[in-house]
Amino acid sequence: MMSYVKKVLSDLKEKNSSQEEFLQAATEILESIAPVFEKHPEFQENAILERLVEPERIIMFRVPWVDDNGKIQVNRGFRVQFNSAVGPYKGGLRFHDSVNLSIMKFLAFEQILKNSLTEMSIGGAKGGSDFNPKGRSDGEVMRFCQSFMDELYRHIGPNTDIPAGDMGVGGREVGFLFGQYKKLVDGHVAVLTGAGLEFGGSLVRKEATGYGLIYILDEALKMRNETIKGKNIVVSGSGNVAIYAAEKAETYGAKVLAMCDSSGYIYDNNGINVDIVKEIKEVKRGRIKDYLKYPNTESAQYVEGGIIWNVKCDIALPCATQNELSEESAKILAKNNTKYVAEGANMPSTNEAVDVFLKNNMLYLPGKAANAGGVATSALEMAQRSSRIQWTFEEVDAKLKTIMVNIYHNIDNAAKKYGFEGNYVVGANIAGFLKVANAMLAQGV
Ligand code: GLU
Repeated sequence: MMSYVKKVLSDLKEKNSSQEEFLQAATEILESIAPVFEKHPEFQENAILERLVEPERIIMFRVPWVDDNGKIQVNRGFRVQFNSAVGPYKGGLRFHDSVNLSIMKFLAFEQILKNSLTEMSIGGAKGGSDFNPKGRSDGEVMRFCQSFMDELYRHIGPNTDIPAGDMGVGGREVGFLFGQYKKLVDGHVAVLTGAGLEFGGSLVRKEATGYGLIYILDEALKMRNETIKGKNIVVSGSGNVAIYAAEKAETYGAKVLAMCDSSGYIYDNNGINVDIVKEIKEVKRGRIKDYLKYPNTESAQYVEGGIIWNVKCDIALPCATQNELSEESAKILAKNNTKYVAEGANMPSTNEAVDVFLKNNMLYLPGKAANAGGVATSALEMAQRSSRIQWTFEEVDAKLKTIMVNIYHNIDNAAKKYGFEGNYVVGANIAGFLKVANAMLAQGV
């Protein structure tokens, strides 16, 4: 059955030769689900893989806007509506200067399987722009968001495609995007999740990806008679995912030794004060090196341009961005006896790094399972909004925890069933794929 996968992959490579990140994600996913086709010849007979790797629709558009100096700027907008077999398209919007078609496609492809793993009825999509909000005024961000929505609005809807945040898109941006959508379309409809609490948002949505990461890690450790308590943790990034993963890890009794941004990392052997990071990033929109300016941070140091994975730890939580953890860094983690890696970001470890984790018998929880708490809570937001009822923080948090615990057991069982016990690359990809494949099969060509 490997030959079927190889054929689809080689066609894909030929057609998308310049889309490195997309091919990287597709290679990892397709190779790991090869065992499925022996048990399910109907998938090959119905060309499920050939159909799965081709997005249902890609929208690319011009986003013109005027900056504070009155100068006209032009960015490129994207929405990749990859697969709607399981439910309406769902996935975040990323505003970052690295955004291009390859990155959008890899993220949307991962999102199909991630959303399937949540067991909520949501299909896979991703969108965004090469606009970089860093250093832009609120007015510039608003005008950009309005122009972005001027085109996007006609492609989305509460029953067709429901975007949300991702890197560079938080509460502020979702608010501006929604404000414009409402002007263009008649009605206050739930078309974006991650909405403000004042206009239909859900409690815990902001914390959900980071908290969910710790919940699934906690469950995996429990099954090994281990606990998070007392462990040293390195969390890369300092955005929404990193902050709430670090916060939850600390409440579980772990010590967060280091966090970073794209310029460098802060390190404190006594543990990072996450409230300061929150203040810097959420309120001041500053840089991680500002940490040292705060009181009681004398024991911390800042390493400009340093690789955070050189910091010795028991648990590594990559929560920054794709391919931030190389094979070399993975070898350093293995050498330093790091036992657990759980991904808050999407595809933060290269395929070679993942091989190192698996060869060294490290517990590795891939992003599409480990960071699914964010999108799962988006689905909970949709449920609350359509029923006009708001659940308490505790209610949403409890549901999120249950979802993450279920994802763990689902991927663990799938790995075991296919003879790859403890290999969650295989477990997550197979468990996620089966639901999508069966939905596609049921719906015909
Ligand atoms: N951007 C997040 C993700 O990668 C959340 C998407 C959503 O809530 O729709 O899953």
